[in-house]
Amino acid sequence: MKKFRSVAIDGPAGAGKSTLARQAARELGYLYVDTGAIYRTVALRVLRSGADASDPAQVISLLDRMEIRMDYGADGEQRMFLDGEDVTRSIRENAVSGLASQVSAIPAVRDFLLEYQRATAREHNVVMDGRDIGTVVLPDADVKIFLTASLDARARRRVNDLVQRGQTADFETIRREVEERDLRDQTRSVAPLKRAEDATVLDTSSLTLEESLLALLKLIREPVVP
Ligand code: C5P
Repeated sequence: MKKFRSVAIDGPAGAGKSTLARQAARELGYLYVDTGAIYRTVALRVLRSGADASDPAQVISLLDRMEIRMDYGADGEQRMFLDGEDVTRSIRENAVSGLASQVSAIPAVRDFLLEYQRATAREHNVVMDGRDIGTVVLPDADVKIFLTASLDARARRRVNDLVQRGQTADFETIRREVEERDLRDQTRSVAPLKRAEDATVLDTSSLTLEESLLALLKLIREPVVP
């Protein structure tokens, strides 16, 4: 019998998934699981090893030799560890984003991480965000939301994010990168980014963060019956 509740949030890059899912989880007292961070950790390992991310064999050969761990501090924040090192910050670098989307298209990488994600949801109430949570990872999630926003709105948010982290960011470049990443995520053969048939769409293009959070919490607390 299922003991815990799960909320699956999927959507394209920059739709506000992580910010909103984190805040919603805090509000509900659930664990926030950022699955993108797990793919980013694999990508960081690939980046550091100098392997060619477009060659599945090279990436796969690294999988058995890396130890990935997710941990939650007293503040409730998810931290990622790669071979014992806290890489929570390093995985946010822009160079890692594109690589994460490349390595996540490799079926063996997805298989490698699938059970880890499912096990977390078996042991906790979770708000889990990613690209395939409602479709593949937690097809029986209690609530499924597809969070999206226009490409411009998403690129603008990504630029602001990077600038806040002290990195430089050019709007046109970021817009193109976000577009490429979406296309790759949507067209890959395994677990592509798509709305689960029973997911409710929440478009945040013209909503402030507060409005988006209220709308999201409403959907979680009063799920729309599809
Ligand atoms: O969510 P975030 O932008 O951090 O994810 C980085 C990349 O990881 C995405 O572009 C996507 O390719 C991949 N990803 C995925 N499946 C998930 C979460 C992320 O393929 N559940």
